[in-house]
Formats: sequence, structure tokens, C-alpha cells
Amino acid sequence: MEKNEIIGKEFKCLDKGFVRLVDIMGGDDSIVQAARVSYGKGTKTVSEDRNLIRYLMRHRHTSPFEMVEYKFHIKLPIFVARQWIRHRTANVNEYSGRYSIMPDEFYLPSPEDVRTQSKTNKQGRSDEPIPEDIANKFIEDLKDTQNFLYEKYNSYLSQEIARELARINLPLSTYTEWYWKIDLHNLFHFLELRLHPTAQFEIREYAKIIAQIVKHTCPIAYEAFEDYRLNSITFSAKELKILSSMIQNKIPTIEEMLEIGLSKREIEEFLIKISSINKQK
Ligand SMILES: Cc1cc2nc3c(=O)[nH]c(=O)nc-3n(C[C@H](O)[C@H](O)[C@H](O)COP(=O)(O)OP(=O)(O)OC[C@H]3O[C@@H](n4cnc5c(N)ncnc54)[C@H](O)[C@@H]3O)c2cc1C
Repeated sequence: MEKNEIIGKEFKCLDKGFVRLVDIMGGDDSIVQAARVSYGKGTKTVSEDRNLIRYLMRHRHTSPFEMVEYKFHIKLPIFVARQWIRHRTANVNEYSGRYSIMPDEFYLPSPEDVRTQSKTNKQGRSDEPIPEDIANKFIEDLKDTQNFLYEKYNSYLSQEIARELARINLPLSTYTEWYWKIDLHNLFHFLELRLHPTAQFEIREYAKIIAQIVKHTCPIAYEAFEDYRLNSITFSAKELKILSSMIQNKIPTIEEMLEIGLSKREIEEFLIKISSINKQK
């Protein structure tokens, strides 16, 4: 898809949300152009441009990536917005519930996305589906409370209570909208955190769409981001010591790893990292 075909297009997300790219300033070319200011006019061909971008990403020479700016129009539930707004390096302008009437739009998860509490990640949900009747009842309950609270909201408005007060009991599932502008360096940071499997499913769905938009508009930078950040694995100095003996076929025992100074949790995470390498194609 060409850049011009993406600008203005609404990409549906969750049940009622969307991501729309409003505008973009720059692309792979502007990263190269900015980098050349510091490195001189040495490189010219596409492969040299690719190598330069990959060099910048590899060595965390981040400022050339700040030359690309994205402006999005996003429609999202408030509980997703609360996680999103923690990314402070963006410019935001949100729909005002003080000024305008909040629309009757609430997020409802699909039954297959209603899962049990994860036993390994205290913050997340597991891969285990919950019995269908419980999932459906949960969704019905959400719908009932959303309708009840919206009726209350409407009744407050009809009694001429100020909009800024009438809205305060609306649930976190209420949809809001904002314009969100961010440079590519900080957008990559957002994507790294919010595409991660430990990020909440709902914000991950938005991150996936944004990642595709970046992939189409800055393909070389996105490929470098995937290689050096998104799909890369880092090892601590202690883990490298263990890896070094593993390469020499000396597999340390758990006791030996504890002696090196890794905690039980670190050992667990290290073993997960090792098994993920084995799964790499
Ligand atoms: C899986 C997951 C779980 C989370 N759980 C929680 C939670 O339980 N509770 C909670 O409160 N938050 C939680 N967060 C939010 C998290 O702590 C960060 O606030 C959020 O991810 C934004 O990251 P950031 O500050 O690096 O990003 P940005 O705000 O975009 O900042 C980018 C970078 O700029 C620099 N920076 C920006 N502003 C400042 C500043 N004022 N001072 C110094 N450096 C600055 C930092 O280097 C920062 O990394 C969670 C995030 C994730 C991804």
C-alpha cells in the first residue's frame, strides 16, 4: 500500500475503535538525510541507505529517527487510553467530555478474549479460555451496567447538570478519541513496549495496526527496528558467562547459576530466552 493510500484510511480496532493516520512528515529518506549531516555525503545507493539506517539503529544513534513525525487519529476505550497516555513523549489532544456529550459507545470484549487470570504474570490474562457460559454472562453484565450508567448520564444532562460532572461515573470502557503526534524514535519505544506479549491485549491490538502503518511508510527503519529491537534478545553479563560455558558444552546446573548471582526469577527468564532462540526459524 502506498503512503498516500494509507493517509486518511480508517483501520478498525477492537469492536468500535480505529486508528487513522492523519499525516506523516518524512520517511526513510529523512532519516538518511539527517544522518548525513553528521556523517557527510558518503552514502548514496539504496543498499547504502539501508546499511546506514541499520547502523543508526544498532548503535542507538536515535536522533535521525526523530526527523520522522506521525499524526494519528485514534478512537479507543478509556482504560486503553490510560495506559497509552503514560507515553509522555507524544503530543495529545483528546475529545472533551466537559465540552461535548460523551457518545453512547462502550467496549465489549469478544467471548474468546475473556480469559482466566494468568498464574505466571500477575498483571495479565492467561491463554486459557474461560467456560463459554461464564464469558457470555460477563459480557452481558458489562452491557447492562454500561446501559444503566449511560441512562443515568443522560438523565443528569436532562436535569441540566454540567457535562463535566454528569460524566464522572461513566465506565472505563467508554470510548474516547484523540489526535496523537509522535516522532519515529519515540514511536518505536511505544511499539517495543506495547507489542510485547506482556502488554494488555487491547492496547496490543492498536500497536499492531500502528506497526503495520510504520512498516509501510518507513520500511527500512521498521525492518531495522524488528531486527535490532523488537525481535532481539539481550543478555546480562552474568547470562553471557553462562552462555559462554554452554557454547563449550558445559551446561551449568541451577545451583551453579545461583552461585553466579542469578536469582530464581532471572534463571527462569534466562531459560525462557534460551528456549525462544531454539524456536527461531
Ligand atoms: C507491560 C507493562 C506494564 C506496566 N505496568 C504498569 C503499572 O503497573 N503501573 C504503572 O504506573 N505503569 C505501568 N506501566 C507503564 C510504564 O511504567 C511506563 O510508564 C510506560 O510504559 C511509558 O514508558 P516510558 O516512560 O519509557 O515512555 P515515555 O513517557 O514515552 O518516555 C520515553 C523515554 O523518555 C524518557 N523520559 C520521558 N519523560 C521523562 C521524565 N520526565 N524524566 C526522565 N526521563 C523521561 C525516558 O527515558 C523514557 O523511557 C506498564 C507498562 C507496560 C508496557
